[in-house]
Amino acid sequence: MSDFETYTQKYIKFRNDRDWQQYHKPKDLALSLVLEAAELLELFQWKTDKQVEEMITDPVATEKLADELADVLGWILILAHDCKIDLGVALENKLAKNGKKYPIEKSKGSSKKYTEL
Ligand SMILES: [Mg+2]
Repeated sequence: MSDFETYTQKYIKFRNDRDWQQYHKPKDLALSLVLEAAELLELFQWKTDKQVEEMITDPVATEKLADELADVLGWILILAHDCKIDLGVALENKLAKNGKKYPIEKSKGSSKKYTEL
């Protein structure tokens, strides 16, 4: 069993134990994912590069960061589960697609979008 499956089952059990699946329509799961991503962004809002460097070495701040990353990933796991998407396969496929969009010889050291290469 992959780590994705292990954690997906834990999140689904957490949801089902609370009878929350009735609220978990794909649209609402996607919305929740974006809301948690916004909470992640909020941790960085208005901070200088130096302040971010300090933040990621502070245990209290990194716990908040870890919490928001887990919130985002949790919604991804649940949404993928409900839409019957194998995240391991999806990641492999997308990495292959990105490799074609951004061949090393054209993209190495460049921040240009693939349409500009
Ligand atoms: Mg959160």
